[in-house]
This record gives sequence, C-alpha cells and structure tokens, in this order.
Amino acid sequence: MTITATNPHTGEALQDYASHTPEQAQAMVEQAHQAFLTYRRTSFAERAALMNRAADLLEERVESLAELATNEMGKTLESSRQEVLKCAKACRYYAQEAENHLAPTPIKMDGQRAEVRYLPLGVILAVMPWNFPFWQVFRFAAPTLMAGNTGLLKHASNVPGCAMAIEDIFRDAGFPEGTFQTLMIGARDVEAVLRDERVKGVSLTGSEGAGRAVSSTAGDVLKPALMELGGSDPFIVMPSANLEGAIGTAVTARTINNGQSCIAGKRFIVHRDVYEQFRDGFVQQMGALKMGDPMQEDVDLGPLATAKIREELHEQVQDAVSKGAELLVGGEIPQTSGYHYPATVLSGITPEMQLFAEEAFGPVATLYVVGSVDEAIELANATRFGLSSSVWTNDEAEQERFIEGLEAGATFINAMSASDPRLPFGGVKASGFGRELGREGILEFVNSKSILVG
Ligand code: NAP
Repeated sequence: MTITATNPHTGEALQDYASHTPEQAQAMVEQAHQAFLTYRRTSFAERAALMNRAADLLEERVESLAELATNEMGKTLESSRQEVLKCAKACRYYAQEAENHLAPTPIKMDGQRAEVRYLPLGVILAVMPWNFPFWQVFRFAAPTLMAGNTGLLKHASNVPGCAMAIEDIFRDAGFPEGTFQTLMIGARDVEAVLRDERVKGVSLTGSEGAGRAVSSTAGDVLKPALMELGGSDPFIVMPSANLEGAIGTAVTARTINNGQSCIAGKRFIVHRDVYEQFRDGFVQQMGALKMGDPMQEDVDLGPLATAKIREELHEQVQDAVSKGAELLVGGEIPQTSGYHYPATVLSGITPEMQLFAEEAFGPVATLYVVGSVDEAIELANATRFGLSSSVWTNDEAEQERFIEGLEAGATFINAMSASDPRLPFGGVKASGFGRELGREGILEFVNSKSILVG
C-alpha cells in the first residue's frame, strides 16, 4: 500500500510513499515507548539543546521545506517559508520556557512540605491536518517533547513528504531514536494505535468528524485528548474602527493559506453605519487578488488542497445563491488545471443556507449587517463553533462587552486572529477542547503530581 502526494496546482501525482503495516506501526509504538523510558530522564537543558538544533535545521532547510509544502498542499511559497520559520520560533520558545512552565509549584500546607510536580506521561499520538503541514505538528511536538514525552505523528494523507521531513528534522537534530516518528497510516488505522496501552494520550487537529471519532476512542480507553477542530470565526466591525485597517485585515484573514485556516475570520459582521463602505472596499480588494501558481512570488491565492475541498466549497456557495444570497464577487470555478477557487464574497445569508452554520474552508466570505453590539454578539455566537474572534472598535466599553460576550477561545481586538507560541490556542463548543501553546499547551500532556512530605 502507498500514500500518494498530488500537486493541487496541476492535479498531477508527485510521489508515492510506502505505508506502514499494522505490525510496523506496533513496532514503532514499542520503539517510542522504549525511547520514553530513557528520554524522560534527560534534563531540560539537554532537551533544550536538541530543540534549538531542530530550530536551526528548520531555518537552514527553509527553502526546501517551503517548496515541499507548496507542492503538496498549494499554499503560496512565501507563506510556506513564513510557516517554517514560525516553527523554529516555537521550538526556541519551548526550549527556553519549558523549565519555567514546568517548575514545581510549592503549596502552603500548615508546616508540611508540599508541591505539584509536572511529570511526562509517555508516548503521545498526534493526528494532524494538512493545512499548516509543519506548524500544526511543531506546535504539538515542541511542548510535548520538551515535557519529556515521546511523539508519534499520523499526518494527513495528502502531505506525506512533509510528514517524513519532520521526522528527519528531529532525527537530524540528535533526538534519541524513537523520540519522534512518523506513522504512514490511514485514518482507519488510528484507532488501533490509540487503543495500544503504551500510548498515553492523543492530540488531534482537524475536522469535527475526525474529532468525534478520535475523542470517542480516547474516552473509551480513558486517555487524555486535546481537540483542535473547525471554526467559523466572526470578524466584527463597529463604527469607531479604523475602517481601512479593518478592510485590509479582513482580506488577509479570509484568504490567508488560500482561505484554509481554522482561525480565520469567515463571517464578516458589520455595523450598518459603516457597512456599505466596508462592503465596497472589501469586495474590491478581494476581487483584485491574483490567483495562480503558488510557486510564483506575485500570486496571492494558490489552489485549494484537494478536488473534494473545492467541490464542497462550491456547493456551499451554490446552495446560498440558489436560496437568494447575493454573489458580490467570485463564485465560479476557473477553467484552469488544479483546484483553484476565486476570492468570493456573498451577502444576504439566511439561516437556511449551509454557509450560515457550516465552516467555509476556502476563500469565501459572508457579509452580515447589524445595528448594535448586542445584535453583533448574538449573530457571532449563532454557530456551533467557537475558535477565535476578531473585533474592530476603538470604543473601550464596546471592547469589554465583546470580550465578555463572545463564545470563543480568543478575542483579538483591532487585530487579526493568529496563533503565537506565547499565547494559549484552542476553542470552545464544537471547535474542541484543551489548549496548545503557551504554558497551558505544555501542561496538556503531563501528570500534575501532588507531593506531600509528612
Ligand atoms: P480531517 O479530514 O479531519 O483530517 C485531519 C486528520 O485526521 C488527518 O490526519 C486525517 O487523516 C485524520 N482523520 C480523519 N478522519 C479520521 C477518523 N475518523 N479517525 C482518525 N483520524 C481521522 O481535517 P482536514 O481536512 O485535514 O483539516 C481541515 C479541518 O481542520 C478544518 O475543519 C479546520 O478548521 C480544522 N483545523 C483546525 C485547527 C485548530 O487549531 N482548531 C487547525 C487547522 C485545521 P487522513 O488525511 O488520512 O484522512
């Protein structure tokens, strides 16, 4: 059996990778477990030296890694470079901060000595998506390995080259054999790995469906699970906002990564006093983006990652138009090779339309008009999802009301939602549970052990 990488710009197959048999996967689990038994005893300084070396390798290999990501999933070459460099930052952040984040916490106990220690759990399985093929993995691996665990990666089936390149980085950085391995297995083989008693937890980034399946298994075998799932984030613009800044950022938010970002603004909720101005500027800038070969430096929008994603996205757009939505720009499949889709904006969205409730995973924006903060919050929260939110207002009282009222794992004020190694990242509602990054991220896969010396 093989896993095949396909170039989404041309639709042509790139390379076949041999998949692992269930027996090979078992042997890798054993190797990860054996590695844990010695790796757990390494000091933070030793782990930090290895993690900093991984960061050096990411920086040294930035061009070849960026080309690999662009070829396999279609994001623009420059955004692939930025992604690889961001991974290096996450490695350096945890190399420096892990020891502080996991320092024992003293507890006052009437004269007895007590503290909480943070001990590694063992082998942690990562099930990852293709949309940020390096970043999603490094934001899992850097804290997980710095905490003293070992990692097994089941990456998305359309980025096998990236998956192997990540294993190479950790090996070449000098991490002991078995500390981080890539399993070349399909989605249906994940359950057996997770049920293996040597595997102590799972981190999944992906769709709601995958999250349900994997967290059900984790629940059945009582193992900790971290779920980073979909989003349909609101991007709210109020009259006091810097409108020019809001429009430019809205375009970036909706088209970053060819529109395939979980944390991007997808629903644009605009106060009626500035709606027309926002709409006109937004539609004009969305329509001016250059779609094409993601390897070309002047291209803004590469293809979607797979034919199926484009098909589903176009179906959502057609569903809305057939039910009365107004198509302001885009919305037509171009006559080119590959899986391109233009920047698209729709208004007049109603609850019967798929786009009202479902995540649009591509460069498709929906516009809504509201008359007040309360109305904006109500509409923003009228979704199963709750990943992030971006609010544009210079009124401090309004800012507080949005921070308190929005059901989301983050609220960015006058800024685009984005992940950063220092800030915890994760969602509420159907966007998942648990947190990656920051101190919260490294605490996900440790045993917070209470110690009392009588
Ligand atoms: P996906 O289809 O759910 O795949 C994600 C990973 O899960 C892949 O490795 C996939 O393997 C695996 N998988 C799928 N179904 C599974 C199952 N039943 N059991 C075990 N594993 C399973 O998602 P995607 O299309 O790659 O990514 C897009 C989704 O991810 C969007 O909804 C996006 O919002 C979300 N996302 C969330 C975050 C976040 O941080 N919250 C970040 C990025 C993306 P195969 O490839 O082999 O099917």
